[in-house]
Amino acid sequence: MTASILDGKALAARITDELKPRAQRLAEAGRRPGLAVVLVGDDPASQVYVRNKIRACEKVGVESLEYRLSAQTSEAELLERIEALNNDDAVDGILVQLPLPAQISSDKVIAAISPDKDVDGFHVASAGALMTGRPGFLPCTPYGVMKIIESAGYDLAGKHAVVVGRSNIVGKPQALLLLQRHATVTITHSRTPDLAQFLRQADVVVAAVGRAKLIKGEMLKPGCLVVDVGMNRDENGRLCGDVDFESAREVAGWITPVPGGVGPMTIAMLMTNTIEAAERHCGLA
Ligand code: NDP
Repeated sequence: MTASILDGKALAARITDELKPRAQRLAEAGRRPGLAVVLVGDDPASQVYVRNKIRACEKVGVESLEYRLSAQTSEAELLERIEALNNDDAVDGILVQLPLPAQISSDKVIAAISPDKDVDGFHVASAGALMTGRPGFLPCTPYGVMKIIESAGYDLAGKHAVVVGRSNIVGKPQALLLLQRHATVTITHSRTPDLAQFLRQADVVVAAVGRAKLIKGEMLKPGCLVVDVGMNRDENGRLCGDVDFESAREVAGWITPVPGGVGPMTIAMLMTNTIEAAERHCGLA
């Protein structure tokens, strides 16, 4: 069997296209949606992520307001900037690119973002809303993963989903979203002995680890659906996921590639959250 490829890039392009008329409607109502993008320091990977997010804003019709701050920025200065953005009516969403320099607590900064502008979905208010099934912004990567699974026409009810990784931005919210769709969910992590034993029972695998090609085809259940969130460099410096794509595609029923899988979907969901924030701010949602 060779797995069907779940093309996140194409799906992200469709979602982005569907957002354009919503952005247009807001602009016509005199309220162009605005996303503040805050980058502190000059981490090269962060620069690339920020550039891609700004490009997506241009495509959709969202105004991106860029704030590039030096690596020496103090926590107090950044918190002041966030407060100003919270109070700025032209700003619907606030994105602070992580990681932040060591002198700044990312927890404090995220907590300072007004929950109605928390388009990354990292605020504890957003996390609590997800936990308790109330409306709130979903974190973009797990949200994108759910859209990919939906695009495969896959019904999660009663299926066993194994999430590999338990971070606050991917693994944990991912598990909650799968649970909301009635999957039976197992969360695995670095202290899980014999990961393969869990993977072999999984109808759905979401890998969010950050270890190149950790998951091999032989660890998977035939016909399973695999979503690879990981973004790593292989031995030749090429971008690759947490899943060994070549061996996994021979066993799985569906699989996302890296690149071209979850990455573009994360950005598409950021745009979705931003448009939604703007619609709420204008009373259109
Ligand atoms: P973190 O480093 O915060 O979390 C990694 C998780 O993997 C931890 O929970 C860790 O366990 C677990 N882990 C580590 N080693 C193993 C192992 N051998 N077996 C099982 N679990 C293990 O990473 P993130 O969640 O932020 O990101 C994960 C990956 O996804 C990274 O490659 C990142 O670049 C990528 N990513 C991609 C995005 C996209 O848009 N495509 C967006 C966000 C992330 P423990 O808790 O015990 O330490």
